[in-house]
Amino acid sequence: MILLLLLLCVQGNIARIIEKRQVFQRGPDHEQFKWPNNTVHYYFDDNLFDQSMSEAVLRAMELISTHTCIKFSTEPSDVMIRMESDPTQNFCYAEIGHVRPHQKFSFVSACYSSGAAAHELIHSLGFIHTHQRSDRDQYLDFKMNLEDMTPDMRDQYKIYEGQTLYVPYDYGSKNIRMTDTMGTEMLAFYDYLMINKYYECSCDTDLKCQNNGYPNPANCSQCNCPYGYGGDDCSRRAEPGQTVMATLEPQTVTIKLDAGFRNGDERQVDFIYSYLWIEAPANKSIVTRIELVSKEKCVPGCSRGGLEIKINDDDRLTSRRFCCGTGQFDRSFHSPTIVMAYNSVGLDEYIIHYRHDP
Ligand SMILES: [Zn+2]
Repeated sequence: MILLLLLLCVQGNIARIIEKRQVFQRGPDHEQFKWPNNTVHYYFDDNLFDQSMSEAVLRAMELISTHTCIKFSTEPSDVMIRMESDPTQNFCYAEIGHVRPHQKFSFVSACYSSGAAAHELIHSLGFIHTHQRSDRDQYLDFKMNLEDMTPDMRDQYKIYEGQTLYVPYDYGSKNIRMTDTMGTEMLAFYDYLMINKYYECSCDTDLKCQNNGYPNPANCSQCNCPYGYGGDDCSRRAEPGQTVMATLEPQTVTIKLDAGFRNGDERQVDFIYSYLWIEAPANKSIVTRIELVSKEKCVPGCSRGGLEIKINDDDRLTSRRFCCGTGQFDRSFHSPTIVMAYNSVGLDEYIIHYRHDP
């Protein structure tokens, strides 16, 4: 008997902080939960789906299908996702994997963004949350008591055994300020890689990708690059952006990122980005301090906009993000050190102070 699992993606603070997704395989039968031919069949239920939210869902499909071998199709099939909206709910959810005819995918306005839609689609592809990985307790100081939760909530936080972990635990940093980095509505480099590994997507190509990129199964003449890298082979800076050279003397650079929607609750369906490369002489670490000039966006995970300096040894991982409060110091041993600003609403302005160590 197939166990149907509904993964609620609750909009409450704690849930938002630690939501992410992860590989979930149900033992030897896990193959049956994969979508055949890497193709996800879906339809919008005309009676139940709020069409004003279709842009977010379609954009999420575009993001996934342009970085992986997954395709989304409205062609009829035995198993299809039924896209619906329940105005009485303030959460979104999806069933995990390829499970049954008209399987559930509920998307409501509280989740409106391409990242939130992608989160649910990744459940549909067969993945659970990162915080439910079998190695979770090595990375999180998990203080919630499962015994105090309703069964639905417990399903959100319990660890699932029998998983294959294709990618590293990506929450940014082991730093205890986890609310700065976790659960943002941005598809991580490792999310795409996880999908590609699970669905065995690859390219038969001589293309050599730089900086830990890999050939993109959706377009084998280009690489999937870690954030901050661009060009066909990830050897260049992603655009738009600028490159500066650190010196011993502190210098400053300003980053402004205007996503529009200055008033009201509306925001971009997707983030806009700007990249700064800070270069330094060989073997010199780079010290940065960020000042937030514009209005604070004190949202868990900096999920409306923020600034991330890639300081992890593995700069494919999400680093700590900054959108709130006073300055943040970081030290990086990468040259270039990548600073990524992203925004979905209003004008964000940062001053970056930077220098290299003696
Ligand atoms: Zn979820």
